Amino acid sequence: MTISTRACVLHAKEDLRLDAIAVGEPGPGEVRVRIGAGGICGSDLHYYFHGGFGTVRLREPMILGHEVAGTVDAVGAGVTRVAPGDRIALNPSRPCGQCGFCLAGQANHCLDMRFYGSAMRFPHVQGAFAEALIADATQCFRVGAGISVGQAAFGEPLSVALHAVNRAGALLGKRVLVTGAGPIGSLTVAAARHAGAGEITAIDIVDATLAGAKRMGADRTINVATTPEAMAEFEKDKGYFEIVFEASGSAKAVAQAIAVAKPRATLVQIGVGGETPVPLNLLVAKEIDWRGSFRFHEEFATAVDCIASGAIDVLPLLTETVPIAEAARAFALASDRTRAIKVHLGFA
Ligand code: ZN
Repeated sequence: MTISTRACVLHAKEDLRLDAIAVGEPGPGEVRVRIGAGGICGSDLHYYFHGGFGTVRLREPMILGHEVAGTVDAVGAGVTRVAPGDRIALNPSRPCGQCGFCLAGQANHCLDMRFYGSAMRFPHVQGAFAEALIADATQCFRVGAGISVGQAAFGEPLSVALHAVNRAGALLGKRVLVTGAGPIGSLTVAAARHAGAGEITAIDIVDATLAGAKRMGADRTINVATTPEAMAEFEKDKGYFEIVFEASGSAKAVAQAIAVAKPRATLVQIGVGGETPVPLNLLVAKEIDWRGSFRFHEEFATAVDCIASGAIDVLPLLTETVPIAEAARAFALASDRTRAIKVHLGFA
């Protein structure tokens, strides 16, 4: 039976409409999911307020969203992984499974990736801010009835944080710095704590954001806009931190990270920011290992396990769940770092 649902469709910059979408029966290997909650991410905000980012532009109406969770409504032939009624987190990443990178276990580098709510390819890959959608069963990860859809919707951003931690190598007992304490930075704090970091410092330029990092387990938070002098002590004797996660993408933060990193420290770059000047001399002289970290793959299952078991509590980052009928207000709230960390859309 086909069901009639609504989806948050971006038609143009700041033109988000609740459009009626018909969703049919799931085919073989597919699942129909009633979405319960969806987190608004930085990329959603870029599409909404700017119509895209860099050279990626919205060229046709697109459903936004990729941080979603819900309940299985119906399953197609051959599906045993989940059953109707199961609460699940939905992996928005759909690698081809056949290219060299997929076969090498590096599906985040897939040559034919279809990632929810992305205008990188045309036709665009539709997103998941919808009351219901058809997904592949392999995208569905059960969380258990005791976990809310709001908690489960953190599966995707937590995966990004766990992948960054995996890129860093062993964290046990290490002095860790996280620059940029928004949702990804704060989830990286929690992931680093989970991985046994010795001490964790988070820096940002907004106090409300830093309060979130503190709630996620940071030992020390520093507002580098109001107290920039507080970083000077970490520059002494060639630097202090053994591992740095750079989650802001700002040139200033990259320079600061290199200044306070110890020689041979590992700097994991999560934040993106186009062309960024870098203090190359210091990077070389300190022999810093600077590594990118892009999306995730096997970490999605780990993230869901961490949420389902209670090993990582994500709820301290949830600011508000806003009904989809007020989506415009949700996007405005999500874009204001002084008021919001993570804003969810709530679906009927
Ligand atoms: Zn592939």
